[in-house]
Amino acid sequence: MNPQLQRLIELQNTDSEITELDRGNAAIPQQIESGKSDLKEKQEELKQAEGVLAELQKKRKDLEMEVATENDHIAKTKSKLPAVKTNKEYTAILTEVDAVKEKISVLEDKELELMEELEEKEKRIPAFKAQCKEEEENFNAYKAKKEAEAKRTEEELEVLRARRHAAAGGIEEKLLGQYNKVFKARDSLAVVTIKENICQGCHSQILPQQVIDVKMGETINQCEQCSRILYWEETSETAVPK
Ligand SMILES: [Zn+2]
Repeated sequence: MNPQLQRLIELQNTDSEITELDRGNAAIPQQIESGKSDLKEKQEELKQAEGVLAELQKKRKDLEMEVATENDHIAKTKSKLPAVKTNKEYTAILTEVDAVKEKISVLEDKELELMEELEEKEKRIPAFKAQCKEEEENFNAYKAKKEAEAKRTEEELEVLRARRHAAAGGIEEKLLGQYNKVFKARDSLAVVTIKENICQGCHSQILPQQVIDVKMGETINQCEQCSRILYWEETSETAVPK
């Protein structure tokens, strides 16, 4: 086989491996990002539960303050008693105090209700936290696995790039230019086999004379349709070194 053709085949094989690994690695950030979604969901649930709790706690504090204000109100009203001159004034003060006491009783009932609700909601927080922690651990393990995969791939890529460099170095400049052009234009596939007279790149029929040339492997043949460089696998006795 034409040694140039042999190198072109090797170059294509190496480039195909590089392309595949590059694609795999390019997908990793997205995979990590989508792996985060379960964790985010749990974190959101926890945040919401904590938000509700904080709101209830604030309501409770407000009620406490209201009760304190009303107690002040009672003390102030009662402090008027020593100065009272008439029964009517006396009754009015006591009526006012009773009204405030009634108000306080309602507020305290509300506070009790709120405390029950708070207690019930607080009980759920540990479970949310545990779920969050579990999801976080799951995600961290997944992320570490993916990052290790990326690192391993990068190491493989380094070896392949060196191999590519070596293979490209042995190819005539004009031929390498052709290869690169077709590689870019034709979905990263510039060197293909023919099977049953069909170009395996674009699936068009190769003329009988060219099939003979391709089988001989002494010259560089390009598909007339897609310009890919053609070779015949069965006849390439010197298998492409891997
Ligand atoms: Zn073709």
